Amino acid sequence: MKKGDIILLIILGIGTLSCVLFFLMKPKAVICVVYENGAERYRFSMDEDITQRIETEGGHYNILEIKDGKATVSEADCANQICVHSAPISKTGDSIICLPHKLSVILESE
Ligand SMILES: [Zn+2]
Repeated sequence: MKKGDIILLIILGIGTLSCVLFFLMKPKAVICVVYENGAERYRFSMDEDITQRIETEGGHYNILEIKDGKATVSEADCANQICVHSAPISKTGDSIICLPHKLSVILESE
């Protein structure tokens, strides 16, 4: 193998690696959108840590927390508590749904 071939291989290697990295970075969520009954209620940046109490119909609530680029429902007074037990979400397309409150937290890219 000639010296030129090795350099070419290294360049190709770096090119492939940056493509893979770009692909891996791409699904990272940019914004967290909260819908109630299909209508948008809130929009948060995933870069900021927040705790937001979301009042839902009938005096109910869900508490949304964004921390270290991950969103969770830390507390809710819904009957089944499925949203509270959902794993933290961090990628575009991930969602946490609270059926009793008709609430969905969806990660979208801008
Ligand atoms: Zn719930």
